[in-house]
Amino acid sequence: MVKSKETPMMQQYNEIKSQYHDAFLFYRLGDFYELFNEDAILGSQILELTLTQRNKNSPNPVPMAGVPHHAAQNYIDILVDKGYKVAVVEQMEDPSQADGMVKREVVQLITPGTRMNVNGESVKDNNYLVGITSEDANHYGFAYTDLSTGEMAATDLISTTAVLNELARLAAKEIVIDKILPADLTASLTNLGIMVSTQALETVPDNQANLVQDLSDLSLTAAQILITYLHTTQKRALDHLQPARAYEVAQYLKMDRNSRANLELTVNLRTQQRSGTLLWLLDETKTAMGGRLLKQWIEQPLIDQQNLMSRYDKIEQFMQNFLIENDLQSALKSVYDLERLVGRVAYGSANGRDLLQIRNSLRQIPTILELLEDLDPAVFGGLISQIDPVTDLEALISTAIIEDPPLSVTDGGLIKAGYNDQLDAYQDVMHNGKQWLAELEATEREATGINSLKIGFNKVFGYYIEVTRANIDKLDDNRYTRKQTLVNAERFITPELKEHEQKILEAEEKSSQLEYQLFTQVREQIKLNIKRLQRLAKQIATLDVLTSLADVAQKNQFTRPRLNQKQHLEIVGGRHPVVEKVLGHQSYVANDIMMDQNQEIMLITGPNMSGKSTYMRQLALTVIMAQIGSFVPAQSADLPIFDQIFTRIGAADDLISGNSTFMVEMSEANTALQNATKNSLILFDELGRGTATFDGMALAQAIIEHIHQNVHAKTLFSTHYHELTSLDQELPQLFNVHVGAHEENGELIFSHKVLAGPADQSYGINVAKLAGLPQTLIERATVILNQLETPEQTEIPELVKLTDELDSKTQMSLFDTLPDDYEQNKVVERVKNADLANSTPFQALMLLNELQELL
Ligand code: ADP
Repeated sequence: MVKSKETPMMQQYNEIKSQYHDAFLFYRLGDFYELFNEDAILGSQILELTLTQRNKNSPNPVPMAGVPHHAAQNYIDILVDKGYKVAVVEQMEDPSQADGMVKREVVQLITPGTRMNVNGESVKDNNYLVGITSEDANHYGFAYTDLSTGEMAATDLISTTAVLNELARLAAKEIVIDKILPADLTASLTNLGIMVSTQALETVPDNQANLVQDLSDLSLTAAQILITYLHTTQKRALDHLQPARAYEVAQYLKMDRNSRANLELTVNLRTQQRSGTLLWLLDETKTAMGGRLLKQWIEQPLIDQQNLMSRYDKIEQFMQNFLIENDLQSALKSVYDLERLVGRVAYGSANGRDLLQIRNSLRQIPTILELLEDLDPAVFGGLISQIDPVTDLEALISTAIIEDPPLSVTDGGLIKAGYNDQLDAYQDVMHNGKQWLAELEATEREATGINSLKIGFNKVFGYYIEVTRANIDKLDDNRYTRKQTLVNAERFITPELKEHEQKILEAEEKSSQLEYQLFTQVREQIKLNIKRLQRLAKQIATLDVLTSLADVAQKNQFTRPRLNQKQHLEIVGGRHPVVEKVLGHQSYVANDIMMDQNQEIMLITGPNMSGKSTYMRQLALTVIMAQIGSFVPAQSADLPIFDQIFTRIGAADDLISGNSTFMVEMSEANTALQNATKNSLILFDELGRGTATFDGMALAQAIIEHIHQNVHAKTLFSTHYHELTSLDQELPQLFNVHVGAHEENGELIFSHKVLAGPADQSYGINVAKLAGLPQTLIERATVILNQLETPEQTEIPELVKLTDELDSKTQMSLFDTLPDDYEQNKVVERVKNADLANSTPFQALMLLNELQELL
């Protein structure tokens, strides 16, 4: 039996594997899926499986690892989560009927972008697959879909940046391309670590032409690539795919990847979780589909005043009709993820429990409609009046499917009695047959006088009569045929028993088959109604999001914003909603933000920790909230509609990217300067701090001047360069504010109040003290600072002339009091150069440590 040649099975395996070399092959072998060769070695590590060998005794055994077929989904999910592809290979014929090698085929390729199976936390996330095609770096077709919900959309994009912004918005999991993309995009995709798959372009077949009917040119190509890829990988009809929505990025508020990340709209920068984000704050949705829609709204704020007002109106209706935190939300809670359930129906993977979830969801619709009766139909347009409760399907599922169906759809036990006559007849036979067996057991006990006699069943022999060895003598040998001998008992059959067994087994088998057939019929019936269910899902999701926004607005005392087209910004009593939520309403210091048409640049000064970035972020979040249609955290707010938001806000990634911080800073500034319009919002937090003081200050001033002369966007600019505050003398559209802080008994007290005019001190040492640096060290720094701040000499010592940075007259006073001592000079030089107010406590600590060593 030892052969060096490949076995026929391994030949088959290798042939399939060669077509799916970039995927894990899950090769069905009886009740297991087996992994072989490299797949087995890597797979056993990732999935913690036991690595064994096939053909152990041959000269070249094959590494092998397996998972039971019923548990395969979990293992597949783990691999796909980690960014791998999995090809599922099934047996295409019954092994007992097969002539030679059992025929096997790949039935599905599961990739990060084609997941159907989502659970846990991520039910409220979409899983996007993106199709991209390009003519050159200025012409892209871009399409995306979530296979689990069937949503699809497409657009034409005119720059690589636009493509990257869309990928960031969607948090795309995988990209499909038909030809090589421009080099800069390819490089960015590699950096981002998004999987890129290739798919030859094919025209979508006629029966699916409606999916792309609204598209043309490159966006059409992109959608076709996507649809072809879905069919090549999933290998089945995908009736739940919805016609691609044609959109343009110019219809929405634009934000780039960095701004989205910096503003922590949906992902917390530190934890990479939802907690502490705008989404976390606003999400009181009760359904998974509502949760996903809210996230989509946040990622894609609007710029159309009418649409926004209509969202405000609806929220107001919910609030006025006391529809929050009551029966409506509890009814919504009982609505399952219709979008994804419908997806599973189309996919052919929905089981009895899924159908019941659809049924239970549909049961809530009349209740929901009743609760919404008092709302003004004019405000809701068709949103409520056009809801179709799909009662026919509710009734169908109720009559057909039993209340607690099993997971499997092939083993019976899922169709209700009374639904089908034939099935009832089989069930009768099965039931009567079992009754008959029980009676047989009783009569046999009586006839033989063996009380321990029993009737049992096993897969090999079917029904049998079991008698303990001690009682064997009491049996009449002619009537009983011996079938199996156990240690303590013997098993027998009788012709009578076999005859009944035949009937029961036949009924059982036919019954399961019929049940499966009936079940698929019900599923097909639902399939025919997918469009109705998808429309309903969308309507419920929208109501859920609006209710959630109303709920949050009420609980957090948000107000309905007014919108204007006059570049007039007036927020009274504004708050940062997330910081407020964390600190509590009482502890948060509300601030106004006023910028009329002629005020374009607000220069913000104030010590570290006083609240400058919070104030800037507060504005950005307020604008975004207003433009998703939400109420805003303020007493009152009158806002222009912004077309784009640009931010350069210190973020955690600065620490990671290390010395490239300044480059990131400058390229973000560049993006803003190149693209901002007078309708944009720019937030620059301490721009220029990444380089030497005078360098940074010069750049900051030049950037401010450029915005003032050419861009005219509403700009908030926080800075530590006090010298910049005098710019208000020359630039009429610029004005100063500062965040209040004062010293009390040597302690720094932050008022967090934003006041007119520039700040007068920077309080770096006080912040160092707050950070808990040793008292002696703080005292020493204070002495040094005092020396620096009381000039006595006017000559610049030699040493200073040698240092490259200190060439400005503003630095003179500093060295006027220098003792001759070189070490002391060094200390003074370091202290003056150090941008204390702009340092983290840890950096301050490192500096002081350095100073101590010098002294
Ligand atoms: P800066 O940018 O000036 O260094 P931050 O904006 O980071 O300061 O604010 C520092 C801390 O002060 C925040 O983490 C927050 O806890 C608190 N803070 C800021 N603004 C306010 C406010 N308006 N009311 C209450 N606390 C605030």
